[in-house]
Amino acid sequence: MDNQEERDRFEKARSGMLKHDLKGRGITDANVLVVMGGIPREEFVQDSYKSQAYFDGALPIGLGQTISQPYIVGLMTQELHLAKEHEVLEIGTGSGYQTAILSKLVKKVYTIDRHHELTESAQAVLGRLGITNVEYYIGDGSCGWPEEKVFDRIMVTAAVPEIPEGLLDQLVDGGLIIAPVGGGSSQKLIACQKKMVGYVERAFCDVRFVKLIGRDGFKE
Ligand code: SAH
Repeated sequence: MDNQEERDRFEKARSGMLKHDLKGRGITDANVLVVMGGIPREEFVQDSYKSQAYFDGALPIGLGQTISQPYIVGLMTQELHLAKEHEVLEIGTGSGYQTAILSKLVKKVYTIDRHHELTESAQAVLGRLGITNVEYYIGDGSCGWPEEKVFDRIMVTAAVPEIPEGLLDQLVDGGLIIAPVGGGSSQKLIACQKKMVGYVERAFCDVRFVKLIGRDGFKE
Protein backbone atom coordinates (compact mmCIF):
# COMPACT_ATOMS: atom_id res chain seq x y z
CA MET A 1 0.00 0.00 0.00
CA ASP A 2 1.43 3.42 -0.86
CA ASN A 3 1.67 6.16 1.74
CA GLN A 4 -1.22 8.20 0.38
CA GLU A 5 -3.47 5.17 0.40
CA GLU A 6 -2.44 4.40 3.98
CA ARG A 7 -3.02 8.01 5.08
CA ASP A 8 -6.48 7.98 3.49
CA ARG A 9 -7.31 4.76 5.29
CA PHE A 10 -6.27 6.16 8.69
CA GLU A 11 -8.13 9.41 7.97
CA LYS A 12 -11.29 7.46 7.25
CA ALA A 13 -10.85 5.37 10.41
CA ARG A 14 -10.33 8.57 12.42
CA SER A 15 -13.60 10.02 11.06
CA GLY A 16 -15.30 6.78 12.09
CA MET A 17 -13.87 7.15 15.61
CA LEU A 18 -15.20 10.74 15.82
CA LYS A 19 -18.64 9.74 14.64
CA HIS A 20 -19.20 6.48 16.51
CA ASP A 21 -16.90 6.36 19.53
CA LEU A 22 -16.82 10.06 20.45
CA LYS A 23 -19.91 11.96 19.20
CA GLY A 24 -21.96 8.77 19.26
CA ARG A 25 -21.18 8.28 22.95
CA GLY A 26 -21.73 11.80 24.22
CA ILE A 27 -18.49 13.68 23.56
CA THR A 28 -19.90 17.04 22.50
CA ASP A 29 -17.10 19.55 23.24
CA ALA A 30 -16.36 20.97 19.80
CA ASN A 31 -12.72 21.79 20.64
CA VAL A 32 -12.05 18.26 21.87
CA LEU A 33 -13.63 16.78 18.74
CA VAL A 34 -11.64 19.03 16.39
CA VAL A 35 -8.36 18.23 18.14
CA MET A 36 -9.00 14.47 18.30
CA GLY A 37 -9.94 14.61 14.62
CA GLY A 38 -6.52 16.04 13.85
CA ILE A 39 -4.16 13.88 15.95
CA PRO A 40 -2.96 10.71 14.20
CA ARG A 41 -3.40 7.99 16.86
CA GLU A 42 -1.58 5.55 14.55
CA GLU A 43 1.66 7.45 15.28
CA PHE A 44 1.40 6.57 18.99
CA VAL A 45 0.97 2.79 18.69
CA GLN A 46 3.52 0.13 17.89
CA ASP A 47 3.79 -1.03 14.25
CA SER A 48 2.10 -4.33 15.00
CA TYR A 49 -1.01 -2.50 16.33
CA LYS A 50 -1.26 0.23 13.68
CA SER A 51 -4.13 -1.52 11.91
CA GLN A 52 -6.07 -1.31 15.20
CA ALA A 53 -5.19 2.34 15.90
CA TYR A 54 -8.84 3.45 15.71
CA PHE A 55 -10.34 0.50 17.50
CA ASP A 56 -12.14 1.91 20.57
CA GLY A 57 -10.04 0.13 23.16
CA ALA A 58 -6.74 0.35 24.98
CA LEU A 59 -3.66 -1.05 23.18
CA PRO A 60 -0.28 -2.20 24.53
CA ILE A 61 2.59 0.30 24.24
CA GLY A 62 5.29 -1.87 25.86
CA LEU A 63 6.53 -2.24 29.46
CA GLY A 64 3.11 -3.56 30.47
CA GLN A 65 1.49 -0.16 29.80
CA THR A 66 -1.36 0.84 27.48
CA ILE A 67 -2.56 3.75 25.38
CA SER A 68 -6.06 4.61 26.61
CA GLN A 69 -9.25 3.97 24.70
CA PRO A 70 -10.24 6.94 22.47
CA TYR A 71 -13.65 7.36 24.14
CA ILE A 72 -12.05 7.59 27.61
CA VAL A 73 -9.43 10.06 26.30
CA GLY A 74 -12.27 12.17 24.87
CA LEU A 75 -14.31 11.94 28.05
CA MET A 76 -11.45 12.83 30.41
CA THR A 77 -10.39 15.71 28.18
CA GLN A 78 -13.94 17.04 27.95
CA GLU A 79 -14.52 16.75 31.70
CA LEU A 80 -11.38 18.75 32.41
CA HIS A 81 -13.09 21.89 30.96
CA LEU A 82 -9.88 23.26 29.48
CA ALA A 83 -9.20 26.82 28.39
CA LYS A 84 -6.51 28.13 26.07
CA GLU A 85 -4.60 29.90 28.89
CA HIS A 86 -4.40 26.81 31.15
CA GLU A 87 -1.27 25.08 32.36
CA VAL A 88 -1.92 21.38 32.77
CA LEU A 89 -0.07 18.63 34.62
CA GLU A 90 -0.41 15.11 33.23
CA ILE A 91 0.71 12.09 35.25
CA GLY A 92 1.44 9.11 32.97
CA THR A 93 2.83 10.31 29.62
CA GLY A 94 2.72 6.78 28.18
CA SER A 95 2.51 6.94 24.40
CA GLY A 96 2.05 10.73 24.47
CA TYR A 97 -1.35 10.56 22.72
CA GLN A 98 -3.24 12.25 25.55
CA THR A 99 -0.35 14.71 25.95
CA ALA A 100 -0.63 15.70 22.28
CA ILE A 101 -4.37 16.29 22.61
CA LEU A 102 -3.92 18.41 25.74
CA SER A 103 -1.12 20.39 24.09
CA LYS A 104 -3.48 21.58 21.34
CA LEU A 105 -6.08 22.81 23.84
CA VAL A 106 -4.00 24.69 26.41
CA LYS A 107 -0.97 26.97 26.79
CA LYS A 108 1.40 24.42 28.29
CA VAL A 109 1.47 20.77 29.34
CA TYR A 110 3.82 19.34 31.98
CA THR A 111 3.92 15.55 31.76
CA ILE A 112 5.55 12.89 33.92
CA ASP A 113 6.25 9.20 33.38
CA ARG A 114 8.37 6.81 35.42
CA HIS A 115 9.61 4.94 32.29
CA HIS A 116 12.25 6.85 30.35
CA GLU A 117 11.68 4.62 27.29
CA LEU A 118 8.05 5.80 27.05
CA THR A 119 8.95 9.45 27.65
CA GLU A 120 11.63 9.34 24.96
CA SER A 121 9.33 7.74 22.43
CA ALA A 122 6.47 10.16 23.24
CA GLN A 123 8.86 13.10 22.97
CA ALA A 124 9.98 11.88 19.53
CA VAL A 125 6.40 11.53 18.22
CA LEU A 126 5.34 14.93 19.55
CA GLY A 127 8.51 16.40 18.04
CA ARG A 128 7.60 14.94 14.63
CA LEU A 129 4.13 16.46 14.98
CA GLY A 130 5.71 19.87 15.67
CA ILE A 131 4.37 20.14 19.24
CA THR A 132 6.58 22.40 21.33
CA ASN A 133 4.50 23.45 24.38
CA VAL A 134 5.23 20.34 26.47
CA GLU A 135 7.73 19.80 29.30
CA TYR A 136 8.68 16.22 30.16
CA TYR A 137 9.88 14.78 33.43
CA ILE A 138 10.97 11.22 34.13
CA GLY A 139 10.20 10.11 37.67
CA ASP A 140 7.46 9.41 40.19
CA GLY A 141 4.47 11.59 39.34
CA SER A 142 2.51 10.53 42.42
CA CYS A 143 4.28 13.36 44.28
CA GLY A 144 3.54 15.95 41.58
CA TRP A 145 5.80 18.14 39.46
CA PRO A 146 9.30 18.23 41.00
CA GLU A 147 9.43 22.03 41.26
CA GLU A 148 7.12 24.22 43.29
CA LYS A 149 4.33 25.08 40.88
CA VAL A 150 0.54 25.15 40.65
CA PHE A 151 -1.58 24.01 37.72
CA ASP A 152 -5.05 24.92 36.45
CA ARG A 153 -5.81 21.30 35.67
CA ILE A 154 -4.29 17.91 36.48
CA MET A 155 -5.01 14.66 34.63
CA VAL A 156 -3.88 11.33 36.06
CA THR A 157 -3.87 8.52 33.48
CA ALA A 158 -3.02 5.61 35.79
CA ALA A 159 -5.08 4.22 38.66
CA VAL A 160 -4.49 5.64 42.15
CA PRO A 161 -5.73 4.25 45.50
CA GLU A 162 -6.86 7.80 46.30
CA ILE A 163 -6.05 11.20 44.85
CA PRO A 164 -2.51 11.95 46.08
CA GLU A 165 -2.30 14.88 48.53
CA GLY A 166 0.77 16.21 46.72
CA LEU A 167 -1.23 16.59 43.52
CA LEU A 168 -4.07 18.43 45.28
CA ASP A 169 -1.44 20.80 46.70
CA GLN A 170 -0.36 21.67 43.14
CA LEU A 171 -3.85 22.71 42.01
CA VAL A 172 -4.93 26.37 41.90
CA ASP A 173 -8.09 27.33 43.81
CA GLY A 174 -10.97 26.44 41.53
CA GLY A 175 -8.72 23.98 39.66
CA LEU A 176 -9.83 20.52 38.59
CA ILE A 177 -8.11 17.16 38.81
CA ILE A 178 -9.37 13.98 37.11
CA ALA A 179 -8.10 10.56 38.10
CA PRO A 180 -9.14 6.90 37.99
CA VAL A 181 -9.50 6.02 41.67
CA GLY A 182 -9.78 2.55 43.14
CA GLY A 183 -7.78 -0.43 44.24
CA GLY A 184 -9.38 -3.31 42.35
CA SER A 185 -9.19 -4.28 38.70
CA SER A 186 -11.52 -1.40 37.83
CA GLN A 187 -11.77 2.18 39.07
CA LYS A 188 -14.08 5.16 39.05
CA LEU A 189 -13.14 8.30 37.20
CA ILE A 190 -13.27 11.06 39.76
CA ALA A 191 -13.35 14.78 38.97
CA CYS A 192 -12.32 16.79 42.00
CA GLN A 193 -12.52 20.58 42.17
CA LYS A 194 -10.47 22.49 44.68
CA LYS A 195 -12.48 25.17 46.47
CA MET A 196 -11.27 27.99 48.74
CA VAL A 197 -12.14 25.59 51.55
CA GLY A 198 -12.17 21.86 50.77
CA TYR A 199 -13.03 19.96 47.61
CA VAL A 200 -16.07 18.91 45.60
CA GLU A 201 -15.84 15.41 44.14
CA ARG A 202 -17.88 13.68 41.45
CA ALA A 203 -17.55 10.13 40.08
CA PHE A 204 -18.62 9.86 36.46
CA CYS A 205 -17.50 6.61 34.80
CA ASP A 206 -16.20 3.10 35.53
CA VAL A 207 -12.81 2.49 33.94
CA ARG A 208 -9.88 0.09 33.88
CA PHE A 209 -6.43 1.70 34.01
CA VAL A 210 -2.95 0.34 34.73
CA LYS A 211 -1.70 1.24 38.20
CA LEU A 212 0.27 4.31 39.16
CA ILE A 213 3.35 2.87 40.84
CA GLY A 214 4.98 5.23 43.28
CA ARG A 215 5.27 6.72 46.74
CA ASP A 216 1.70 8.00 46.81
CA GLY A 217 0.34 5.45 44.35
CA PHE A 218 0.51 1.66 44.51
CA LYS A 219 3.54 -0.34 45.58
CA GLU A 220 5.40 -2.20 42.80
N1 SAH B 1 -1.96 8.65 28.82
C1 SAH B 1 -1.23 7.55 28.26
C2 SAH B 1 -1.57 6.26 28.92
C3 SAH B 1 -0.79 6.07 30.11
S1 SAH B 1 -0.71 4.43 30.75
C4 SAH B 1 -1.42 7.45 26.78
O1 SAH B 1 -2.23 8.20 26.21
O2 SAH B 1 -0.74 6.65 26.16
C5 SAH B 1 -0.13 4.87 32.36
C6 SAH B 1 1.24 5.46 32.37
O3 SAH B 1 1.51 5.82 33.73
C7 SAH B 1 2.35 4.49 31.96
O4 SAH B 1 3.08 5.06 30.93
C8 SAH B 1 3.19 4.33 33.23
O5 SAH B 1 4.57 4.20 32.98
C9 SAH B 1 2.88 5.62 33.95
N2 SAH B 1 3.13 5.59 35.40
C10 SAH B 1 2.88 4.62 36.29
N3 SAH B 1 3.24 5.01 37.53
C11 SAH B 1 3.72 6.27 37.42
C12 SAH B 1 4.23 7.23 38.33
N4 SAH B 1 4.33 7.01 39.65
N5 SAH B 1 4.64 8.42 37.85
C13 SAH B 1 4.55 8.71 36.54
N6 SAH B 1 4.07 7.86 35.63
C14 SAH B 1 3.66 6.65 36.05
